Amino acid sequence: SPIPDFLDETLDRFRPDRSGENADYIPDLASADPEKLAICISTLDGVEYTSGDADYEFSIQSMSKPFIYGLALEQEGLAGVLEMVGVEPSGEKFNELSLDKKSGRPLNPMINAGAMTIHSILGDPGASLAERTEIVRAGLSRFAGRELSIDESVADGEWREAYRNVAIANMLRSYDIFYDDPDEVVRGYIEQCAITVTVKDLAIMASTLAGGGINPLTGEQVLSPRVNRQVLAVMMTCGMYDAAGDWMTEIGIPAKSGVSGGVFGVMPGQVGIATFSPRLDRHGTSVRGAKIFQDLSDRLSLHIMDAP
Ligand code: GLU
Repeated sequence: SPIPDFLDETLDRFRPDRSGENADYIPDLASADPEKLAICISTLDGVEYTSGDADYEFSIQSMSKPFIYGLALEQEGLAGVLEMVGVEPSGEKFNELSLDKKSGRPLNPMINAGAMTIHSILGDPGASLAERTEIVRAGLSRFAGRELSIDESVADGEWREAYRNVAIANMLRSYDIFYDDPDEVVRGYIEQCAITVTVKDLAIMASTLAGGGINPLTGEQVLSPRVNRQVLAVMMTCGMYDAAGDWMTEIGIPAKSGVSGGVFGVMPGQVGIATFSPRLDRHGTSVRGAKIFQDLSDRLSLHIMDAP
């Protein structure tokens, strides 16, 4: 049939590209098979078209950030969350030690300073590490439409190398951005990043956002329309960090990348798209993933600013 053939042909054209490098800061990412390549597109009624290694599991990493932002917004309301984390693109690397000069808040929920603050909001005040980790795991599972689990080997590797994230969390605590134990917030955030998914899961998660917050498999309204819009708007402007402008002008699909090599994109009202390929560019985005998104954008006219 035409769609799977189109996807097979697309992957075949980018398969020979070996540019970029695996993330190397933890053993599990460094040793991931760099040849793995996968794509999945999910429609708003949950029909999935796949090609390549579509059942291969990898850690969700920073691709968790938009979803956790949505859960925090549902829990605390828009105003409450905005008091703690802004919505301005930082133009900085994902792990910059930075706060907004005027407001003192993390600039946005896609960089680590904002994402860890968002993580700290989840649950009752003073929630334990285990409670918050379960809220995150169960919450991401509602977007995926199946029970996700945590790869503790990825989490342990990340924890051993967490110097930068521990520094960020201590900065946040020292400025009273949150009052939780910084180490617990980092560990919880790391567990969040170590949740494993396939491109099929990511495409369903993306199509939940594309469909106004309704999971196409379970029919559950995971996010309200207003929160869903907020998540997508912030993801579009901040999701690709210091490459956000290039990504939006050239590719024009709101998207989020993770250091494991996954990328997902959201076409509001249309489809969720996910790719996986471990080798990264200097922004920490999958090289072949970005090229495939560019190709789909060009050939299917998916740039959201193109007049129909
Ligand atoms: N766990 C990584 C970190 O916070 C995620 C980074 C990413 O996926 O961009 O350092």
